[in-house]
Amino acid sequence: MFFTASEEDIKSGKTTDFYFINTKKILEKKNINKNVVVEVTASSLPDNYRWGILSGLYEALLLLEGYNIDVSGLNEGSLFYPQEPVLTIEGNYKEFCDIETALLGFLCQSSGISTKSARLKKIVGDKQILSFGVRRMHPSIAPMIDRAAYIGGLDGFSCIGAEKITGKKASGTMPHSLMLMIGNSKEAFVSFDEIIDKQIPRIMLADTFCDEKIEALIAAENVKNLSGVRLDTPGSRRGNMSKIIQEVRWELDIRGYKDVKIFLSGGLDEDSFKSIKDADAFGVGTSVSNAKTIDFALDIVEVDGKPFTKRGKLSGKKTVLRCPKCGSGKITYGKTNEKCACGEKMKSIQINLMKKGKILVDFEDASNIRSNVLNQISKVEL
Ligand SMILES: [Zn+2]
Repeated sequence: MFFTASEEDIKSGKTTDFYFINTKKILEKKNINKNVVVEVTASSLPDNYRWGILSGLYEALLLLEGYNIDVSGLNEGSLFYPQEPVLTIEGNYKEFCDIETALLGFLCQSSGISTKSARLKKIVGDKQILSFGVRRMHPSIAPMIDRAAYIGGLDGFSCIGAEKITGKKASGTMPHSLMLMIGNSKEAFVSFDEIIDKQIPRIMLADTFCDEKIEALIAAENVKNLSGVRLDTPGSRRGNMSKIIQEVRWELDIRGYKDVKIFLSGGLDEDSFKSIKDADAFGVGTSVSNAKTIDFALDIVEVDGKPFTKRGKLSGKKTVLRCPKCGSGKITYGKTNEKCACGEKMKSIQINLMKKGKILVDFEDASNIRSNVLNQISKVEL
């Protein structure tokens, strides 16, 4: 048996932190039935990011479904700022205290991946950027990772397990192992072209046996509809990746292969993109799949209708306002609209997600969520 929790385990609280078991026991024995408002908020973001992208909400709602609680919050794929409650839950604390661990887990990891993906997509702009990093993470969460990366703004992903939950086909071409099995680049490229479905773009891996520009030319000269070459140059050979790309581009161009794209992968993160402007597309690995989590916390902010919270937190059920024009945000207590510094009227972006344990929202297609993410991040600076 793999060392993972099943869906039933998670739903029935089998992955909770032990101290919630104690809490529940005491509240039950002492018959403490208090209605609370709890908020899920990130006080700060990884590396002082200015904003994050919320994802994992649909799984969180599936977890909360059936509990006698009301839930409101931001929708899947919403841009949020630190201190803004992304989720607000109201109900008898005793009844749902032990689901906090799983709830935060769904939101923190997925949002961390979507946030990183949104940042990378904003950096590369119109160039293609794909998620290739599930191999370095536990396979049981591979679909979640690639979905979070895709809705965060990446253009595609490699894991076929994510196809079902995104409605989008996975993509990929050839690994080094195929090159080694065939034994030489030319034959590997030709075999790929001969056997693989014509709809799959011909992107040949051009760094296995010899210099990138030599293998790129072998690909260009032997594959008729070559879409691109992928450079996954090992770290030990990366003297100056930018120059390597320039050379490959030059050699392809002067021989008339201007349409052949250069696809770069291997150890890419935010800083990498500054020095590799000549590449046309990118594959990102652990910078996305192992992105820092968003450290959401769940805190009681009202007890029996009165603002009440711990040190370091703001009490009271809050409204999250957003400016539709410039994307600025603000939290208020009681006010549902306000004028933004830019002149536009800010409005609440919270929606009712659940009433007495019943989910009120339709789960949107991943591609729609992604479009919405791209729209929101176009209004804000990194
Ligand atoms: Zn504004």
